[in-house]
Amino acid sequence: MKVAVFSTQYYERDYLNKYNCEDKHQLTYFDASLNEETVTLTKGFNAVCIQVTDKLNANVIKQLSQSGIKLIDLRSAGYDNVDLEAATKNKIKVMRVPAYSPQAIAEHATALILTLDRKTHKAYNRVRENNFSLQNLMGFNLYGKTIGVIGTGEIGTAFCSIMLGFGCKVLANDIKKSKILLQKGVEYVSFEKLLETADIISIHCPLTETTHHLFDSTAFSKVKKGMMLINTSRGAIIDTKAAIAALKTAKIGYLGIDVYEGEENIFSKDLSNTVIKDDQIERLMSFNNVLITPHQAFFTEEALDEIARITISNFNSFENKTTTANEVLLKIE
Ligand code: NAD
Repeated sequence: MKVAVFSTQYYERDYLNKYNCEDKHQLTYFDASLNEETVTLTKGFNAVCIQVTDKLNANVIKQLSQSGIKLIDLRSAGYDNVDLEAATKNKIKVMRVPAYSPQAIAEHATALILTLDRKTHKAYNRVRENNFSLQNLMGFNLYGKTIGVIGTGEIGTAFCSIMLGFGCKVLANDIKKSKILLQKGVEYVSFEKLLETADIISIHCPLTETTHHLFDSTAFSKVKKGMMLINTSRGAIIDTKAAIAALKTAKIGYLGIDVYEGEENIFSKDLSNTVIKDDQIERLMSFNNVLITPHQAFFTEEALDEIARITISNFNSFENKTTTANEVLLKIE
């Protein structure tokens, strides 16, 4: 199969080549993202392999179909960047990597919490300047705190287990309950109760029409003053403008984000020699209680290996016409 692999980073090629045994599939790597400007590159291919930063709206998908593309294969779990309705209409299959290493993301969410709490990033810089003062480095114990988890799928489940290990009380909100988590002592509550009671909230649900701007000014008006909000899921689940307002009134005491609403123009790029035109991320970066990482939660050796293995196995399933749970199907409401 001839596959156009978009948004390829240098670190991905070796992993993909490793699992593409005997060069079974003809992989052509493009550094560029797949969008309306680059879609013409897909002529002559059977499939496209994409990342979260590629935007496949109805127009792009129509052009993919005209190019003869029959498969869109995501190297990610989330698929909110693909217009599923348009793909179904154009008879293009969509596949993804549903769970490659939920621990990688759950552990990164934990790293954001601990860094914001214990201020190790500030201590590191300070000590390098021979400043050994403890001024403004005070944190709080995680033990005994109430953690609110939105979405208890693969990643949320791994995250709940880590927080239980710290001795936290874990509250969760999901449209379905996990028996395993209930047995472990996780309590499912309404979104409102979670907002009102959690000291730390970590987001692990997908971006959908329902979860778009789930954390808006109304939600922030209900949270505990000084709470910590962590988002390793998708940027648009938080209304950035409302988050900035809540940071200014100290309703949000700490914000740790690995994802951001306008990240496709910023993340995965070295912009150190350019002027960033996005005023909202600039404002976020000006707060000393905000920690931003560039969508790196998945970025572990184990996760990259597994993403590549499953991505190539998706090409094989498509070619062999075997059914797989990795296919994303349009839900008819
Ligand atoms: P999953 O499908 O296993 O779990 C998602 C859970 O969210 C499910 O239990 C689902 O029922 C629940 N959910 C759906 N709508 C909800 C709502 N309105 N309110 C509460 N819960 C709701 O997915 P996962 O593998 O755990 O991944 C979760 C998200 O993490 C992905 O959708 C993706 O956006 C993000 N992600 C980020 C990175 C990263 O590097 N930062 C990497 C992988 C995944």
